[in-house]
Amino acid sequence: MENKLMIYNTLTRKKELFEPLNAPNVGLYVCGPTVYGDAHLGHARPAITFDVLFRYLQTLGYKVRYVRNITDVGHLEHDADEGEDKIAKKARLEQLEPMEVVQHYTLRYHKAMEALNVLPPSIEPHASGHIIEQIQLVKEILDNGFAYECEGSVYFDVAKYDKAHNYGILSGRNLDDVLNTTRELDGQQEKRNPADFALWKCAQPEHIMRWPSPWSDGFPGWHCECTAMGRKYLGEQFDIHGGGMDLIFPHHECESAQGVAAMGHPVVKYWLHNNMITINGQKMGKSYNNFINLSEFFTGSHPLLQQPYTPMTIRFFILQAHYRSTVDFGNEALQAAEKGLQRLMDAWNTLGTIAAGDATTVDVAALRGKCYDAMNDDMNTAQVISHLFDASRAINQIADKKATITAADLDELKETFRLFAFDILGLKEERGSDSGREEAFGKVVDMLLEQRQAAKAAKDWATSDKIRNELQALGFEIKDGKEGTTWKLNR
Ligand SMILES: [Zn+2]
Repeated sequence: MENKLMIYNTLTRKKELFEPLNAPNVGLYVCGPTVYGDAHLGHARPAITFDVLFRYLQTLGYKVRYVRNITDVGHLEHDADEGEDKIAKKARLEQLEPMEVVQHYTLRYHKAMEALNVLPPSIEPHASGHIIEQIQLVKEILDNGFAYECEGSVYFDVAKYDKAHNYGILSGRNLDDVLNTTRELDGQQEKRNPADFALWKCAQPEHIMRWPSPWSDGFPGWHCECTAMGRKYLGEQFDIHGGGMDLIFPHHECESAQGVAAMGHPVVKYWLHNNMITINGQKMGKSYNNFINLSEFFTGSHPLLQQPYTPMTIRFFILQAHYRSTVDFGNEALQAAEKGLQRLMDAWNTLGTIAAGDATTVDVAALRGKCYDAMNDDMNTAQVISHLFDASRAINQIADKKATITAADLDELKETFRLFAFDILGLKEERGSDSGREEAFGKVVDMLLEQRQAAKAAKDWATSDKIRNELQALGFEIKDGKEGTTWKLNR
């Protein structure tokens, strides 16, 4: 089908027609997690948003190379140029090697993403595995005159860059704004200007994560990794760079400036940003200490949660809002999402049972068109879900014989539902947990034994024997005692 995908570009502040630089190939880079703690709800949103984009671009026929990095070095506390490395701090507190911390939380992140049905990216590079590329980037920026060295550290010269180019192009801030909002921190005296940011930091003697460089034994500044790894895997110019809105400044602004300073031209064509998840109106995040881990949602083990929520409920909850709107956490909203998802899944199961008729009262082609239009309108997943609810109502009407559908349309309806609900939105049917299933099966056995008891009371020996014999044949041991009948499964 003709591609009319419109996406909102943070750089131009408007919706633009998506035209890849090298169709049918698409390069997509998304900032991944800093792996020093468990993934929380705030991490789920960019992962799911860009998973849907990844899936949809492939549906449109593009060959997508999706790079999502793992930040395992250089991300200092408070996102600033001073303070302790987030991973090194965790390692120090728990007396581990930093790479043990990285390994542990990367595996847990993958598990959470798998539960949310987030597809793995094509490449998942680690910042610590690309120190050489980052040093090379810093050298180029120095050679081009947009950085300076001081005491073994290298800083980006924001004022000089701003004279030649435009610092603030992405975030809409100008240099004066930046200067007014930059906090004076200890150790800032090495910088010519408080707005300058580190490209390379000389490591203090106690700093454990360090590499040799032309300037000092040290480590790269946080913003370097994405510029260096984006170029390595997607080229000097690529299509889409994504992340949460909280990354627009300083992270993406600095990335953008580094790219121009090193390569002489803008690197990214479309910048996409998802909005935040809030809790009582405040951003949910580790730095705010108000976050709920994904594993806590899945088990219900957090004081703010009234019950557990399955990974698909979380996914559905996030997709029910447009990715550029805020989503406020709340039990009521999650419970509504749980019910809504169940309604969709019930309709999908009903769809498998309905019989075709001679005529169609459902406009399937229009439904398909509307779902594509919603996705093409800056990935309006909320709208897609509302169309799927319309489809669910139509399915229930057909099942209730209040509407009919021809065989060809029935196939088309199944295909449309599958494509949008499962392939593009990435929902999946969830079976109950094993313990929940066992409990339900046990109750069925109890029910049969009650019927046997009733049959005995009515002296219907044929029925009571039949129930006992058939349960025994299935491996159940039935014991009649003074306290009633007990059972266990011997297999
Ligand atoms: Zn990044």
